Amino acid sequence: MGEPNLLNRFRSGTHALVDLDRLEANIHSIRETAGPGLDLLAVVKASAYGHGSVEVARSALQCGAAMLGVARIEEGLELRRSGVTAPILVIGPPNVAEIDQAIAAGLELSVGARSALDAALGTAHRLKTVLGVHLKVDTGMHRYGFFPDEAVNIARGLREDPMIDFAGIFSHFSSADEADLTETHRQQRGFESLLDELDRERLGPRWVHLANSAGIANRVFGRSNLVRAGIMMYGVPPSDDVVVPAGIEPVSQVRSTIARVFSIQAGQGVSYGHAYVADRGERLAVIPVGYADGLERHLSNRGWFLHQGRRCPIRGRVSMDQTLITVPDDAVEGDYVVVFGAGAGDAMTLVDVARLSDTIPHEVMTRLGSRVPRIYHRSGIPVSWWLPMTAERGAFTN
Ligand SMILES: *Cc1c(COP(=O)(O)O)cnc(C)c1O
Repeated sequence: MGEPNLLNRFRSGTHALVDLDRLEANIHSIRETAGPGLDLLAVVKASAYGHGSVEVARSALQCGAAMLGVARIEEGLELRRSGVTAPILVIGPPNVAEIDQAIAAGLELSVGARSALDAALGTAHRLKTVLGVHLKVDTGMHRYGFFPDEAVNIARGLREDPMIDFAGIFSHFSSADEADLTETHRQQRGFESLLDELDRERLGPRWVHLANSAGIANRVFGRSNLVRAGIMMYGVPPSDDVVVPAGIEPVSQVRSTIARVFSIQAGQGVSYGHAYVADRGERLAVIPVGYADGLERHLSNRGWFLHQGRRCPIRGRVSMDQTLITVPDDAVEGDYVVVFGAGAGDAMTLVDVARLSDTIPHEVMTRLGSRVPRIYHRSGIPVSWWLPMTAERGAFTN
């Protein structure tokens, strides 16, 4: 990168650290849990849950992932523009107006509705280019996908079509992150009987996939040969009820620096609405992080940051760009604080943030703001960066 002070600039103010060694260790753990008969589809949708799709895709492919998964065609195009040549599956409903581009870029599409199927076939024939397709089956999630009794007919059509490479079939669990796996096993049985039917007519495609992170952790694989891992790659349990395999550790941490230190007296309130009123004198710090950076507003008066290993409670409302915390006497302007994330003792974890905000870690991660630079580390050394706001990325040359 041309600008020598870029690292210093990014390290001051709010920024996210992503540990690529840990990410890769997690991917290995997932592959070990799945075992030798199962390949990995690395789910890098929504900018790899905020971590950066290009960087995560590269790590996943280096760790032997067979395929990448995105939710939107545009996300697949971003990977292609960055030079990623591996198979990419658009796992969500495709925007039918972008199928031309998907075919031109060699993306594979999920078909789980009539409109997507018709548009996929129509476009492949018009462009006279073979399109890879995965048939999405609704075994109980009741979202995107054909019901099993429609799927057999559609599989026949896909198999016979010269412009279609019928590359895969899959389904998605609704409740694999719950303690009770009854519904998950019911879905699995429904999927397997469909596979039996397809086998009788030799319609089965190359890839058969079912498990998301929760399914992997609970080892619900059936006869699949591919797993779709998202949240667990990033080291976060899908829910409180899921025990992740050994070796899965969080990969990211959000940090910031203190912008102002000041004291207030008993009876004085802070920030919008004076939602916090001090009952004795205390020292406060202003941190330039707010809900526009992905810090949930629910954390107002509830969450905490970490300053030199000590918990500093959030005071008053989290605003768009700034948040206040109570700090010890030795805290000074410019000091680092951990906002949340991995590897910092008592800091709020993503699970803590999710619990305090009445949501799931997936949402917390994908909300990390586009103005927060991501700094990638290897062996503790910053190696590269990504700034979503400007869509720029680069390497640090130290
Ligand atoms: C997002 C998604 C996944 C990944 O889910 P995680 O819980 O993050 O592992 C897998 N499959 C489909 C269809 C998805 O949409």
